[in-house]
Amino acid sequence: MNDSKIYDVAVVGGGLSGITFAHTVAKHGLEVLLLEKRDVLGGCVHTINPYKDNYFAELGAHTIYSSYAAIIRLINACKLQGEIIPYKSAPYKMYANGHISSMFRHIYPIEGFFSLFNIFTTKKRGLTVAEYYSKLLGKRNFADLIHPATSAVICQNSATFAADLLLKIRKKDKTYPRSFTINGGLGALLNTAANGKNIELHTNADVVGIEKTTNGWDIKTASGAYSTKQLALATEGRVAAELVAPVYQDMAKLLKALPSRASRAFNVSFAANKSNVKHFAYIIAKNASFTAIVSRDMLPDVQYRSATFHFKPDSNPAYDRQTADEVLELKDRDYVTNTAHFELPHLGVSHHEWRRQLDTELVKAHGFYLLGNYFDGLSMEDCALRAENEALRAARAANIHI
Ligand SMILES: Cc1cc2nc3c(=O)[nH]c(=O)nc-3n(C[C@H](O)[C@H](O)[C@H](O)COP(=O)(O)OP(=O)(O)OC[C@H]3O[C@@H](n4cnc5c(N)ncnc54)[C@H](O)[C@@H]3O)c2cc1C
Repeated sequence: MNDSKIYDVAVVGGGLSGITFAHTVAKHGLEVLLLEKRDVLGGCVHTINPYKDNYFAELGAHTIYSSYAAIIRLINACKLQGEIIPYKSAPYKMYANGHISSMFRHIYPIEGFFSLFNIFTTKKRGLTVAEYYSKLLGKRNFADLIHPATSAVICQNSATFAADLLLKIRKKDKTYPRSFTINGGLGALLNTAANGKNIELHTNADVVGIEKTTNGWDIKTASGAYSTKQLALATEGRVAAELVAPVYQDMAKLLKALPSRASRAFNVSFAANKSNVKHFAYIIAKNASFTAIVSRDMLPDVQYRSATFHFKPDSNPAYDRQTADEVLELKDRDYVTNTAHFELPHLGVSHHEWRRQLDTELVKAHGFYLLGNYFDGLSMEDCALRAENEALRAARAANIHI
């Protein structure tokens, strides 16, 4: 608790958005307070060390691509270029009817060929993933391959998700590996960025209230109170709705209306000789209790293997181990497990209109910023880009010349 100090900027939420924002404003010389409710940073970035050694695995976000320019800028600003580890290629597989098979077995080439001509007349904007890809590749290709694959990417049923907010084409920086992580996992990047100069970090700091003052904002946590000139909320939309409700009622209404989907990540880490399943990058599931399994086989290790199941919210956690045993053909239960719960927004086709209304409300809010994965898309790059741009706006508002 710090009664007298007034921070230049306070950031609520220590996930990728909050940390990128904090790091960017701090780099411009502003004094930043970063508050995270959990005892660890990361949010949807959830790196674990199952054996309490250097071997790491990811329960949440796992891959940085060479097209992630804002994330690459963060890596460079943290001087972590030397810690980049390229992912090795490994096959993508499909799990359907209790069997793992090649993805190619689930393609209908003739239907796909004839539908593909629709690419010239079909625009993504305004269409759901189901509508767009059924037109582009055919209904059977959508049902058997594209629907499970896109649901795997966003850890939720993709059918009613907006097609233009799912996968984006971005320019690749060919000086970086196509896909990669950081030594120690993605959590290592966020920990380094959050512990930089000019950032005062508090974990176990659950923000329970915010209040507008003449010169800025007061923030309350269960154990302290803080004052700041500018405030950024980088939490899930649901939490932001509760926090802004006493200050900006119309904004709170919009945030409250944002749909979200829960998912459960269940990681099994085991000795490399314990599974009969050959190395794979992803297993995409069709009609199963999980949407996908993301393995760590892209970073092969002589001693261990590790795989994270992304279970659907209506699946029963009591069967997580049994599912892992069956799918990965694990011989005995000599493995380490870890579970994490996530919440991701569901951005439907009405999201653009929702966003327009939210932006109208945000223009009226001075010294206040909203960040997160419910603006331009769910990917880490979407989050980092918004956080970076908003941080520059906050720096300019503090009379920093950029
Ligand atoms: C399983 C999974 C896999 C993914 N894989 C990828 C991938 O490989 N590549 C990719 O680009 N994207 C991936 N994503 C998407 C991406 O990771 C997320 O969209 C992004 O990390 C979200 O970051 P954020 O900071 O906006 O939100 P969050 O990560 O949700 O962070 C919000 C933070 O706010 C904190 N908080 C909440 N309430 C309070 C409060 N009252 N007080 C203080 N703190 C609070 C939370 O504890 C949390 O740390 C994945 C997402 C998931 C769930």
